[in-house]
Amino acid sequence: MTTNCIALVVAAGRGTRFGGAMPKQYLPLAGKPVLRHSLETLTRHAGIDRVGVVFNPDDAALYDTAAAGLDLLPPVAGGAARQDSVRLGLESLVDLAPNRVLIHDAARPFLAASTIDDVMGALDQSPAAIPALPLLDTVKRGANGVITETLDRTNLWRAQTPQGFRYADILGAHRDAKGLDLPDDAAIAERAGMAVKLIAGSEANFKVTTEDDLREAEHRIAAGLGDIRTGQGFDVHAFGPGDHLFLCGVEIPHDHSLVGHSDADAGLHALTDAILGCIGAGDIGVHFPPSDPQWRGAPSHRFLSRAADLVRARGGVIAHVDVTIVCERPKVGPHRAAMVSRIAEILGLDQGRVSVKATTTERLGFTGRGEGLAAQAIATVRLPL
Ligand code: MG
Repeated sequence: MTTNCIALVVAAGRGTRFGGAMPKQYLPLAGKPVLRHSLETLTRHAGIDRVGVVFNPDDAALYDTAAAGLDLLPPVAGGAARQDSVRLGLESLVDLAPNRVLIHDAARPFLAASTIDDVMGALDQSPAAIPALPLLDTVKRGANGVITETLDRTNLWRAQTPQGFRYADILGAHRDAKGLDLPDDAAIAERAGMAVKLIAGSEANFKVTTEDDLREAEHRIAAGLGDIRTGQGFDVHAFGPGDHLFLCGVEIPHDHSLVGHSDADAGLHALTDAILGCIGAGDIGVHFPPSDPQWRGAPSHRFLSRAADLVRARGGVIAHVDVTIVCERPKVGPHRAAMVSRIAEILGLDQGRVSVKATTTERLGFTGRGEGLAAQAIATVRLPL
């Protein structure tokens, strides 16, 4: 059977122009990796049969997070340069033999369904089509900070993705161009003599390349999320016999454990309730009844992930979370950074949007007597208006 259209997302670059250790396509954007934004759009599109990603196997853990729960083809290992990665991605589709293929940059999160429609529509008449925008700024050539030439911008376009092709044609063109260093797939098609149709791109479909771009991307999303909610959560667990406990997703050696049906992580329980509170989705007990044996000893990150999924399902993002642990012991300070990191990882947030604090009750009350510990949390969620 011939598959009609497959989308291939190119995410193999290790580009770290941001200076960080994480390739930009995996950086968090509004609560999910940059890559996931376009994957969700492509997998939802009725005209696309399958979606696959070309990745760097060194990023397998990041990829798994970005792709979790999406119906994708097995990821394909890319090559040294973008052109190699695309060719390897195309070669991986030989058995599926799609009629058409759309090739998209992972770093363009704002792919609109209408752009996909337009590229696919253009492929009815043309062997290749790409979204592009006319160049409006005057274009200069310069050397050593001084202009050497002013170029004529007439008929100049800025190429975007997804770039659409007939599969057999672009596979052949890529094979022929192996070893060259061409900047995009349209250039490969042009070299093979294909007429590449220009369709209207959109400014929103920009490539997240710099930190400024990432901020701009956050602004765009936040501008559409004006319904700002706060929710709070509170939880207590008693100490019992044991030699370790879980707090904010971190295992801490201690002379007691915490007693509870799950792993008794009061920090994550309070935080889960705070997030559920933002969307009026009841409390942790509604979603994970203690009477249900499947949650016995369950790691509490599953509860927190579920709350974050519910926010995403509403089209919302988690803007900020703040957890306060109330206990005399264990000391939270030495574990604070690990807790912030773990919560950020579970929620898909930048660590700057996560706070963990600790206090005591001056030896008063049940926490003061060391009978148990308490946690409270507050979360801020932005939902579409
Ligand atoms: Mg609890």
